[in-house]
Amino acid sequence: MVTITHIETRDVRFPTSLDKTGSDAMNAAGDYSSAYCILHTDSPHTGHGMTFTIGRGNEIVCAAITLLADRIRGADLDTLVSNWGATWRHLVSDSQLRWIGPEKGVIHLALGAVVNALWDLWAKTLGKPVWRIVADMTPEEVVRCIDFRYLTDALTPEEAVAMLEETGKGKADRIREAEASRAVPAYTTSAGWLGYGKEKMRALLEETAAKGYRHFKLKVGGSVEEDRERLQIARDVIGYDKGNVLMVDANQVWSVPEAIDYMRHLAEYKPWFIEEPTSPDDIYGHAAIRSALAPLGIGVATGEMCQNRVIFKQLLQAGAIDVCQIDACRLGGVNEVLAVLLLAKKFNVPIVPHSGGVGLPEYTQHLSTIDYVVVSGKKSVLEYVDHLHEHFFHPAVIRDGHYVTPMDPGYSVEMRPESMERFEFPGKEGVSWWRSEEARKVLEAERI
Ligand SMILES: [Mg+2]
Repeated sequence: MVTITHIETRDVRFPTSLDKTGSDAMNAAGDYSSAYCILHTDSPHTGHGMTFTIGRGNEIVCAAITLLADRIRGADLDTLVSNWGATWRHLVSDSQLRWIGPEKGVIHLALGAVVNALWDLWAKTLGKPVWRIVADMTPEEVVRCIDFRYLTDALTPEEAVAMLEETGKGKADRIREAEASRAVPAYTTSAGWLGYGKEKMRALLEETAAKGYRHFKLKVGGSVEEDRERLQIARDVIGYDKGNVLMVDANQVWSVPEAIDYMRHLAEYKPWFIEEPTSPDDIYGHAAIRSALAPLGIGVATGEMCQNRVIFKQLLQAGAIDVCQIDACRLGGVNEVLAVLLLAKKFNVPIVPHSGGVGLPEYTQHLSTIDYVVVSGKKSVLEYVDHLHEHFFHPAVIRDGHYVTPMDPGYSVEMRPESMERFEFPGKEGVSWWRSEEARKVLEAERI
């Protein structure tokens, strides 16, 4: 028996705005941050989960984690995971906290951290990586992880079991492929941040192509002329006929008509998809953009700011997306992600998780593996950004253009204590970088 005794949160922020890592048309200078949750127990194990933010406001998520996690303080782990769907429902059912959601925004980001910390704890007690726990489940056990309220008009538990049984036929082979680290091909965004100069971009494209990447994503949405130049450079490096794929990402800066018009100017560079062309809440808008761009061969992708499984359900029902970009901790943790993987499978839309953030590749490598091995049975691609992995005990690693499948017990986001101390905000004098002279540049910068 493992009992959760108390909950600790940490506000950890990395000053990525210094070199514009992560910059895009909407987010000019983010400081990649982690609202971090540690579940302490009466056993040698601790559960580690986090939610990604880009700086200011991270402390609000930490406060919400403390409030939410109180619902499982004193609880027994086996009881919590024996009926996961009910536990998830319990976590979203504090009616007073629910008022400040429901199931969206800060309170839902906090839920992602808490639920993922529980999965990490459970995985450590079982001695398995998270993906393997799900791979070892029966279809009924997978379905019992999910709260199906709000989903049954699109997908019933019985249909989900039937789909998982069907996919289960080749599962043993796919597990072997995962164990050989051939389950999850990676794509790179490292070259494509909007704040990077053209020479840096070209060098990074050449470098990542040489490393075996075949999919490259660039940020767009600053200006048509600039973007045409940047995409031309990209195509000069990766070509049109070498099997390389280009994707572009606008981070929500356009109205629906603007998105359609702008993308017509970029069509000659043949992007596979435009990511986040408009507001993440605009289901009909995405559907309109998709139907306008389909004749040009450009697909529509979204999901990193899609607030919950209900919006994903509607995007899929409306035929609004070609690519489903789940986020590991904007959704309410593994359980809600499983729901969206099943919905996407039903609507035959590939999963390409959002991973552009600290800790996200560590999480999503498990989710893409689950999608391939357990749910869709089809390989997709997964974003990889080469930043900040050194702060984790079990960092995501790319080899030969593929994620190296995580085999250590847990959910891979346990952060090194010295990194937490060094980048804690506002942190301790003489310990935290945020108390240093260098930090003043970031703290006193114009708020954009
Ligand atoms: Mg994006």
